[in-house]
Amino acid sequence: MPARIAGSGTPRYPPRDYPDHPDPHVRFAHIPSASAREAMADFIPYTPTDDNDQEAIVAEFPASTVIKDAELGRREPIWAHHLADQIRLTDEHDSTPKDRPYVRPSDAGKCARQLGYVASGTPESDPADDASIIAMAAGARFFHKLWQDGVERYFDELRLDYEAEHGEGAVPGPGIPWRVVIEEHFDRSDTTLTLPPRKEGDPGIEVPIEGYADLVVYDCEGTPLEVDDAKSKGGFGYKKLFKEGVDLGPWTQSWIYAVLKGAERIAVLNIAKENISVNAASKMRDVSETERYANEFTKLTRDWDLPGYKELARMWGINRLAHEKGMLGKRVIPEYGDGTEVIAPQQGLFENGTTAWQCVGYCSWQQQCVTDGPGRVPIPETSVLAIRMKETATTVTEAFPGTEVQS
Ligand code: SF4
Repeated sequence: MPARIAGSGTPRYPPRDYPDHPDPHVRFAHIPSASAREAMADFIPYTPTDDNDQEAIVAEFPASTVIKDAELGRREPIWAHHLADQIRLTDEHDSTPKDRPYVRPSDAGKCARQLGYVASGTPESDPADDASIIAMAAGARFFHKLWQDGVERYFDELRLDYEAEHGEGAVPGPGIPWRVVIEEHFDRSDTTLTLPPRKEGDPGIEVPIEGYADLVVYDCEGTPLEVDDAKSKGGFGYKKLFKEGVDLGPWTQSWIYAVLKGAERIAVLNIAKENISVNAASKMRDVSETERYANEFTKLTRDWDLPGYKELARMWGINRLAHEKGMLGKRVIPEYGDGTEVIAPQQGLFENGTTAWQCVGYCSWQQQCVTDGPGRVPIPETSVLAIRMKETATTVTEAFPGTEVQS
């Protein structure tokens, strides 16, 4: 890290250094150094004219000389950190840990252990660093936000054009997309999704849901038609979608909101933070011009019912494990399918040598997870839930009946 001026957080600019200049008080005057002056004695400036051809220019300025003579000039960044600082300063997201007796659809598909940390309000042991903050802001505050603004503007114009043609107040009829709600809020106080009962006659389980749907599309009668989830992706993850499709998380996220709204269709939009080049696209199968930067997938909501209910049941089970037993789930990540645990979270390593990308650089509890060890383990003493439970009980065992944990 560069040295920072005490109190200001700003790194020092390097001291001025013009050793060859005769006047030490001169400011911002560019005087070539002695060695450069010597080298330039034989230099004949090249004057480009209309009839200069590329060959002549190359002959005059051979690239090898330029590269050989140039210094890289790399230094420890002193301006760059203002980007992350500014993002942090203007971030409205509240990251204070809180215990959550509810399901956030945006957690679908995530590691079971990680969901336990979220549910119990465990402070992050590995908060996002500057690079992650910037990557997340690029997705949320640039791609995501501009796309949502664009969709909203499209529907405003659509209505105006329609009224101009068909008269004020005219609407096209049911079933036609006519209005959108961006970031529609679902509040757990009045939003529950019922898990189907295991046996006929049993009551279903009400799962409280809290979150925001990226985009809900309605017709002119207010009937919800489609729920869209948008994801911004790095270059590698985006290209992978063409082969492997969308995974459990985004489908389930839009499915939960679609079931709550009674919308017939779900869709996932992926926006590439790094475009596929024209060259690379020509080597892939059927990548359209638009798909070089964004692709979309869609399904009927009912076609995701089975994986959707299973994933919701998994998330709610992990939540209950924390809130009713004071325990965290195993280090199991649904994407890796067979229920085996990560044995070394430092590398995201499974016993069979596979590695999970989720652990390294993407998990905000990696160190905590290393400390807590494998298997089902008690929620950390530092978690909001443990602290709250202890306030009303003398021991953790008392707070969480059924566990062997000592306070
Ligand atoms: S480090 Fe890996 S295994 Fe541990 S909580 Fe994070 S994602 Fe899960």
